[in-house]
Amino acid sequence: MNAFDLGKFEEEAQEQWTHAFESNPSKLEKFYLTVAYPYPSGAMHVGHGRTYIVPDVIARFWRMRGKQVLYPMAFHVTGAPVIGISKRIANKDPKTIHLYRDLYKVPQNVLDEFADPLTIVRHFASEYQRVMTACGISIDWRRRFTTVDPTYSRFIEWQWKHLYEAGHVIKGAHPVRYCTVDDNPVGDHDLLEGDKAEVIRFTLVMFHYGDAVIPTATLRPETIHGVTNLWANPNVTYVRALVDGSAWIISKEAAEKLALQDHTVEIKEEIAGRDLIDKTVSHPLCGNVPVLPADFVDPDMATGLVMSVPAHAPFDYIALRDLQNAGKYTRIKPVPLIRVEGYGNIPAQDAVEKAGITHQMDNRMDALTQEIYSAEFSKGRLFEKYGGKPVRVARDEVAALMIEKYGSKIMYEFDTRPVVCRCGNRVKVKILHDQWFLKYSDPEWKKQVSNHLSDMTLVPPEVRLEFDRTVNWLKDWACTRRVGLGTRFPWDPTQLIEPLSDSTIYMAYYTIAHKIREIDPKLLTPEVFDYIFLGKGSPDLPEKKKLDSMRAEFLYWYPYNYRFSAKDLISNHLTFQLFHHVAIFPKDKLPQGMVVFGMGLLNGAKMSSSKGNVFLLEDAVRDFGADTVRMFLMGSAEPWQDFDWRNELVVSTKKLIERFFNTVIESKDTAGEPHDIDRWLLSRLQAHIERTTDALSNFQTRQALQEAYFGIETDLKWYRRRLPENVAGSRELHTLCSVWIRLLAPFIPFTAEHLWKKVAGDGLVSFSPWPVADKKLVSTRIELAEELLSRTVEDIESIEKLIRITPKSITISIAPAWKHEIFLLIANANDRTTVIKEIMKDDTMRKRGREATDVAKQCTTLIHRLPPQVVESLVREPINEAQIFEAAKKFLEKEFGVLVHITDAESSGHVKATTALPFKPAIIFE
Ligand SMILES: [Zn+2]
Repeated sequence: MNAFDLGKFEEEAQEQWTHAFESNPSKLEKFYLTVAYPYPSGAMHVGHGRTYIVPDVIARFWRMRGKQVLYPMAFHVTGAPVIGISKRIANKDPKTIHLYRDLYKVPQNVLDEFADPLTIVRHFASEYQRVMTACGISIDWRRRFTTVDPTYSRFIEWQWKHLYEAGHVIKGAHPVRYCTVDDNPVGDHDLLEGDKAEVIRFTLVMFHYGDAVIPTATLRPETIHGVTNLWANPNVTYVRALVDGSAWIISKEAAEKLALQDHTVEIKEEIAGRDLIDKTVSHPLCGNVPVLPADFVDPDMATGLVMSVPAHAPFDYIALRDLQNAGKYTRIKPVPLIRVEGYGNIPAQDAVEKAGITHQMDNRMDALTQEIYSAEFSKGRLFEKYGGKPVRVARDEVAALMIEKYGSKIMYEFDTRPVVCRCGNRVKVKILHDQWFLKYSDPEWKKQVSNHLSDMTLVPPEVRLEFDRTVNWLKDWACTRRVGLGTRFPWDPTQLIEPLSDSTIYMAYYTIAHKIREIDPKLLTPEVFDYIFLGKGSPDLPEKKKLDSMRAEFLYWYPYNYRFSAKDLISNHLTFQLFHHVAIFPKDKLPQGMVVFGMGLLNGAKMSSSKGNVFLLEDAVRDFGADTVRMFLMGSAEPWQDFDWRNELVVSTKKLIERFFNTVIESKDTAGEPHDIDRWLLSRLQAHIERTTDALSNFQTRQALQEAYFGIETDLKWYRRRLPENVAGSRELHTLCSVWIRLLAPFIPFTAEHLWKKVAGDGLVSFSPWPVADKKLVSTRIELAEELLSRTVEDIESIEKLIRITPKSITISIAPAWKHEIFLLIANANDRTTVIKEIMKDDTMRKRGREATDVAKQCTTLIHRLPPQVVESLVREPINEAQIFEAAKKFLEKEFGVLVHITDAESSGHVKATTALPFKPAIIFE
C-alpha cells in the first residue's frame, strides 16, 4: 500500500527510533546543542513546539552530516509557582481547575493528586516527554533529570561553593520586587504583569506643612529651586502617619510601601485630598508654595503627592496652564532655573508648544518629558544664582544636601506600573536584609562576560546589542527564596536557591546525568565534581572508574556548541548562564554560540496559557500530524522571527507533504535512459543541495525549506513539461528522490523515514549521509538555455492572455550579434552609468547612432530585471540562442499547438523584430 497516512508513518518511525538518538562519545566530531529546559507546570502548546523543533531540525541536519550529535532534555521544577498551583487546586479555585481540567485535559483522578506539588511536575514532565517524542524530537532521554534530584542538588552545591569562594555571592540589604501575599521576592517568571519594570531610587523632598511634612518623590532634586506648587489629588484619601516617629502626610499605598523599606509606619488619621488643596507648604530651598488640585496624581505612585516644576516638566506646565485657562491661580508663573541649548527660557513651554500639545492626556507627553529630562541632564546648566553647575553634577549634590540638612529620605519605586504577581497581588519594592545576592554588578565579572561574549556566535547577529546592554545594566540578583522547591543554600539552610540561579550551568550536568545517578548522592562531594569538571585532584573513591568515564564524557561534549532560547530570556537566563560559566569553567569550556527565537502568535494574538490563548501541541499533532506541525513551524518564519499559528495555513502545509509523498512514490521507480532535460534537473539539484545546506548551517529553517521543497518542486514541474510526449521520466528521478527525501528529512522525519525505506531499502534516513553537491553535474550552459526557454514561454503566454487570440503561427526573432555585444559590455561594466558613453566611442556602434543608444538603455533595464546569477552566468558563458530555440522547436509547437518559426531579427524584416534583445527575443504572432 502506498497511501499517504501520517499517523501510520509516525507509528513505524517511533518503533525504529527507540534508543536511536542516545549519543555517546565517539571518534566523530561532536555537535552539542541544548535548549532551555521547560518548567513542566502545564501542557505544551505549539509555541513550545517550535522551541524544541528548531533545535531538532538542526540536530538532525548535523547528524546526517556525520557529526556525533547530542540533544538532551531535563525538567526545571525549582521554585514556588507549582506550590501556588497545588494550593489553588486543593482550594478548588475555579480558574485554576478550569485551566488544568479543561484546557490541559488532566484526568480528574490525576488532578486529585495535585495537592502534592511534586505530582504536578512529575505528571507534566512525563507529558512533555511523551509529546516531544510524538513530535519526533531526537532527544537522548537517558540523560533526563529534574532539578530536585538529589544528585543534581549536590552538583548545584558544588557550583555555589565555587561562586561563593570567588566572591560572587554576597549578603546585604537591597531593594527587591516583593509579594506580601507570598511573603517572598518575586522573579521574572513569577509575574503576571510588569516584567519590564525596574526599581528606581527616588529622593523624597520634605515640604513642611504645619507640624507635619509632605514628602514628594523626585528624580530631579536640583529642580527644587523651580517648584511653584505641589499637586494633590482631591479625590484621594491621604493619611497622616508617624514614620520613624515624625508625622508625614502620604497616600495609604505609600504608607504600606514605606513600611517595607526600613521605616516604622503608624497610621494616625485619614485626610481627604480636598482638605489639602490651597494649603501652603514650605521648603527652605523654595520658600512657601501652595498645594493645587490635580486628578492625574496617582496615590499608588511613590508618596502620592508631587512637587511641580512647570518651567522644566511638561506635565506640570500643562496642568498649571489648564488651571489658569479656567481663570484659577493666574498669579503663579513658571520659575526657570536651568539653561539648556536648543530651548528658550522655559524649556517645558517650548517643547509643549512646538509639539502642539493641547491637553494632559496627549500620549506624546511621556516622550516629551523624557526629551526634556535627557536634554537638561546631558547639556543643561543651573543658573548662576543656583550655583551655575551642570545638571549632572548639581543633581547629586542637591540630593546629598537635602539628605544631610533638610530631612530627605530615599524611596524605591517601579518606573512603570502595575507590577502584578502570579497570585494576583500588586508587587511592591521591599528592602531585604540578610538577603543573598549574586553580585552581577561586579565590574570585573561583567568584563569577563563581555570578553567572552565577543568571541561567541550569536544568531541572529543583531541580538548582540541586547546582550551587551544586559551585561552592562545587570544589578545584584537576589538568588535565594524562603519558599519553593529546589536546592538548599549551603550557608543558610532556611533559604533555597531560586530558579534562575540553579539553571545556569546544567548543560555541563547533561554530559554526566545518565552516569552520575549510579553513584550514591552522599558520596558526591565537591571534590568529586572538581575532578569531573575541572580535572582537579583525584578523589579516592570506590567509584573511580565511573568518575573517569564521566570526566571523559564532559571533555568530549563540552563546551556546548549552541544554546537555543526565546528572546525574552536574554535579559535574564541567557546572560546569567554566561556569568556562571566564566566564573567556573576554564576558557576552552565556555559556551560557543546562542540562537535566540522570536515569539509565537495564535491567530495574530500573543500566545498565553494564563489567558487561554493557546493551541496544545498534542492536539496539533493529532489533528494535522507531527510532520505537518514541524513543517509549518519551520516554514512560516525564520527561528528569530515571530510566527503566527493559523489552522487554515497548517491544513495547506499538510497538502504540501502529501504532494511530496505522491511525487516520490510515482517517480522512485521510473526507469529509462536520461533525456536532455534530465541533465538540467540534476544540474539544478546541485544548487538546491548547496543552498539548503548553507541555509541550515545558518539556522535559516524557512530559507532551507524554500530551497528543499519549493525549489525542487518547481523544477520538477518544468521537467515534466519538457519531457518527450508519453514519457514519465528517466532513471535519474531515482537519484533525485533519494536526495529530496534526505533534504527534507530534518523537517518531516516521519514521512522521510517511510519513503526512505521504499527508495533506499534499509537503514534509517535519520542516520543517512546528507547529500553533497556534485560540481561535475552542474552545467551553466544547460541551465541558461532552460532559463531562456521558460522565460520565453512565459512571455508568449502573457501575450496570448493580453490579446486573446490564438495565432496561426508564432515567430521567435533573435537579437543580432551587435546587441549581444552591447549586453555583455554593460553586464561586465563596473559602472553601468558611464558604460554607454564607452560603447558609443566604438566606430561601428557610433554608425548605428540612436539605435545603439536605445538598445544600450534597454539592455541596462533588462540586466537590472534579470536575476544577478543569470547575468553573471551569461557573462561567463555566452549562449547561442538560435540553437537553443531550434532544439526546442518541437516542444514549443506542442506547448502552443501552432507552428513556431525561429528567425534572425535583423533579416526578418518584421517591424516587431527590431525589439529583440539578448535573452529576450521578439515574439511575433501571425
Ligand atoms: Zn504573590
